[in-house]
Amino acid sequence: MSFDAETKMQFLFTLRSKGVTDNRVLDAMERIDRGRFVQGYFADRAYEDMPLPIACGQTISQPSVVGLMTQALAVSPRDKVLEVGTGSGYQAAILALLARRVYTVDRHKRLVASARAVFDDLALTNITAFTADGSFGLQDQAPFDRIIVTAAAEDPPGPLLAQLKIGGIMVLPVGQSDAVQSLIRVTRHEGGFDYDELRPVRFVPLVEGLGKD
Ligand code: SAH
Repeated sequence: MSFDAETKMQFLFTLRSKGVTDNRVLDAMERIDRGRFVQGYFADRAYEDMPLPIACGQTISQPSVVGLMTQALAVSPRDKVLEVGTGSGYQAAILALLARRVYTVDRHKRLVASARAVFDDLALTNITAFTADGSFGLQDQAPFDRIIVTAAAEDPPGPLLAQLKIGGIMVLPVGQSDAVQSLIRVTRHEGGFDYDELRPVRFVPLVEGLGKD
């Protein structure tokens, strides 16, 4: 299956019907072929609105959730963005079209290596991918205009809050179990943080330390 005109039309139609209305986000999702980030058995389903398995027992998120999170992040072309949870690299690739610079980290070096290969292939030169425990953020590159976390923690990790600029936005799933999680948006201002609850979601957990592979 390929991301041909008809498949794209259907893909964008589904995104819009699920509430992704920001034209810059839709445009970026039209330009990045999700099929490049899904390998093997499930490749045929890359254009369906569902999460799919990737290596290391992880998942590539559902396209409509990627769209809604990207929209909530309100990225501007000047922004420096941190993504925690590179996974397949799909979300980072979309952010790369919207932001000045994207740093993405995953605890599995195998995922980072395969995401890097796709970024190179697509000539997305403004993404830097690292193997690291993202719950500590990326102190060397902080502070960030935007932070997106694509794995669920019980609460927003303290180091990530600390690495968000004043005026910055962070979007992340939080929840105490796999079953009950909410997507939240944290906005930092001079006096502290505002929290908005956006919608229920289901993500793999944010896990401490590095993975075995
Ligand atoms: N954004 C990805 C989907 C991510 S799935 C995409 O577009 O495909 C969540 C990812 O978070 C997994 O790859 C998992 O390895 C990673 N992860 C979990 N805990 C982590 C941590 N503490 N630091 C960095 N990455 C983590």
